[in-house]
Amino acid sequence: MKIASVIVDVPAKQTDKAFDYLIPSQWEETIQPGMRVVVPFGPRHIQGFVIEVKRESEFKQLREIIEPMDLEPVLNHELLKLGTWLTDHTLCFKIFAFQVMLPAALKAKYEKKVKLAPGADVADLQLPLQSYFSNSSTLNWEIALKNGLVPYLQRASAEGLLEVLYEVKEKVRKKHVHVIGPALGAQDMKLELERLPGNAEKQKQVLAYFIEHHSEIELRQLTEKIKVSSTTVKALVEKKLLWEAEKEVYRDPYENRIFERTSPLPLTEAQTTAIKPILDSIEGNQHEVFLLYGVTGSGKTEIYLQSIQEVIEKGKEAIVLVPEIALTPQMVNRFKGRFGDQVAVLHSGLSAGEKYDEWRKIQRKQVKVAVGARSAIFAPFENIGIIIIDEEHETSYKQEEMPRYHAKDVAIERAKTYSCPVVLGSATPSLESFARAQKKVYHLLSLPTRMNNQALPSVEIIDMREELRAGNRSMFSTKLFEMLKDRLEKNQQSVLFLNKRGHSSFVMCRDCGYVVSCPNCDISLTYHRAGVQMKCHYCGFESPVPKICPECSSEYIRYFGTGTQKVEDELGKILPEARVIRMDVDTTGRKGSHERLLKEFQDGKADILLGTQMIAKGLDFPNITLVGVLSADTMLHLPDFRSSEKTFQLLTQVSGRAGRHQLPGEVIIQTYTPEHYSIELAGTQNYDLFYQREMFVRKMHHYPPFYFLALITVSHEQLMTVMSATEKIARFLRSQVSNQAVVLGPSVSPIARINNRYRYQCLIKYKREPNLTKTLKTIIDQHQNEAKNGLLVSVDVNPFILM
Ligand code: ADP
Ligand code: ZN
Ligand code: ZN
Repeated sequence: MKIASVIVDVPAKQTDKAFDYLIPSQWEETIQPGMRVVVPFGPRHIQGFVIEVKRESEFKQLREIIEPMDLEPVLNHELLKLGTWLTDHTLCFKIFAFQVMLPAALKAKYEKKVKLAPGADVADLQLPLQSYFSNSSTLNWEIALKNGLVPYLQRASAEGLLEVLYEVKEKVRKKHVHVIGPALGAQDMKLELERLPGNAEKQKQVLAYFIEHHSEIELRQLTEKIKVSSTTVKALVEKKLLWEAEKEVYRDPYENRIFERTSPLPLTEAQTTAIKPILDSIEGNQHEVFLLYGVTGSGKTEIYLQSIQEVIEKGKEAIVLVPEIALTPQMVNRFKGRFGDQVAVLHSGLSAGEKYDEWRKIQRKQVKVAVGARSAIFAPFENIGIIIIDEEHETSYKQEEMPRYHAKDVAIERAKTYSCPVVLGSATPSLESFARAQKKVYHLLSLPTRMNNQALPSVEIIDMREELRAGNRSMFSTKLFEMLKDRLEKNQQSVLFLNKRGHSSFVMCRDCGYVVSCPNCDISLTYHRAGVQMKCHYCGFESPVPKICPECSSEYIRYFGTGTQKVEDELGKILPEARVIRMDVDTTGRKGSHERLLKEFQDGKADILLGTQMIAKGLDFPNITLVGVLSADTMLHLPDFRSSEKTFQLLTQVSGRAGRHQLPGEVIIQTYTPEHYSIELAGTQNYDLFYQREMFVRKMHHYPPFYFLALITVSHEQLMTVMSATEKIARFLRSQVSNQAVVLGPSVSPIARINNRYRYQCLIKYKREPNLTKTLKTIIDQHQNEAKNGLLVSVDVNPFILM
């Protein structure tokens, strides 16, 4: 008799432990640790992960597992162990820790099928299976279960004859658009046009359009183009003069691209020195964390590539993390170019099915390298030889929902298990990492100069207050404007950089100062011209822009600030001849559009690339000789102790985009606070000095890396409830921690209300509190019971967002 310990998919305190189930005899050989199963739970049937298979249980009267969900374990032994570690370190429910390691396709909503593997022959299958596959190449999982085929399927899968597919069930949305086309020839259409009654002006316009163009068009484009309503168009469809159809929009993932193969470059002296300790660590199967500190263009990526090469030659595998935003084709090409189809790429641009395909390649050991964003750290390799985290300072490596893990911590944990190196690369390392390198916890490797000793671009800081005093109210300083013009004349390209989408493009009344804000959240709505709409970035609330001020009825209510759209408008006015490509969340929403826009810019189809931080990374085009930062300080004033660090990193990063090739580069940084050290030092690209200054500030204010942080956020619809609950938590915390720790709060969260829930917080700063985890767990557990009253308590250990 076999028994399985199962973590069930019920994220709650009472169920946050393994439950024992009997394995029915027909599944005895099938069910293994790391597989998902369906189990009875109360009156329901739910999913769970088998974490252990054993012979005895301390419990009597066990219920039976209903059925397995997998043919092979989806989590290997190491990942199961990692799940426990993740639970302990991020204080999340066990079920979340396991779920986060799997691709989305393995989570509900998908139909599971078993398919004959490419090249496999039905005749190779065991007899009971043959009849099922003789007519069809796929078999529905439900049918397999009903007919007792799973043990056969399992064997066939182990032999590589079958694979499991996850198909998105049909109703999960595909993208559709309405398309309109002419139902008649142009001649007939003309006759019909004349027959329309005289007052049907709009309908006539539509017909005239089709007489002229005589081809199909998206309904939305048509109505925009000739300014008619969709009702007008539909009326013509009803008259059978036009046809209407729904078309599926195909995604455009730039598939089947051919990657030019590259070979290892002979390393420079600096690179040779830097790579040596990494190679030694690989050779000696030694776990070590390296911090590869080198400016952009100093040859870090080449070091990654050659280290991976060594790992592959040893028969091992590599994980490379890059920020989502930097997962551009350029970056991916470098890895595919070197290692070809040994590389799996995991990024959010892929559909769930495509992601599952990549994941499966890793699981089936068909690839040796996994390149991806944060979650790729869970790539199910079993013989990892190196883990690389590029741009290690990026905050996107921290997940902001349960489990609130940092990819760097997970990387180090996995690398310890596999006795392999971790390489953290950055031109502007996070303060935490650099401090650890200074203390020799990490091994510091430096690449002090750019390849071929190209000079770093010259950076000039422009004081926008001076501009204003001189009477220039434009968002472009005189200098920046002149340089843009100069580049235009020389036929060179410029990049203009703006923080965040519509960061400050709110709608404000110029008479009374009223700002339109979200009714559910204490935050102003962001203006989007495309739809003449305002949106809340937190809860998604939308509303049209008011024509008059709701407070004072003034008509002078308009949008403010410098969203990318507004910059584009102004560029159109001051440099009408410039061709501009705008890249922000709005223009790159569609899959592939990011790449398409970059390609257009690379092909010289525009003079100016204008965008948000998504253009700060990875851009490496020879013709860019000017980078302009429109307002360097927008990020400085966020309620975040990392705001100086982030400003410095971002400015340094953007500056690095200019002059990467033969042509020298220039950078203009516009700011209202030129005296701030993070801006001044970004101007001279002096990381070391910045590090010293910032460490001093952090020390003074008890922030990381001198102290650890834990943030508790409490929210509820009733303000009084939140206040008293947070007060209780703070008191409890103070009674539990040592006098070395500081408990701040309760205080109102920087965003005081989201989605109609009031938010309060407590911040704990500490150096060594061995009991803190237990204390925090107690707090979570206590409030689990209160969750019914709607009180939500979340704990973020090592938070990156304090809002
Ligand atoms: P980073 O990752 O630090 O930005 P890269 O590895 O991308 O730097 O190197 C910058 C440029 O220099 C790239 O175009 C790369 O191909 C080139 N490069 C890197 N190492 C060498 C080398 N050893 N010899 C010649 N060119 C190199
Ligand atoms: Zn007003
Ligand atoms: Zn809102």
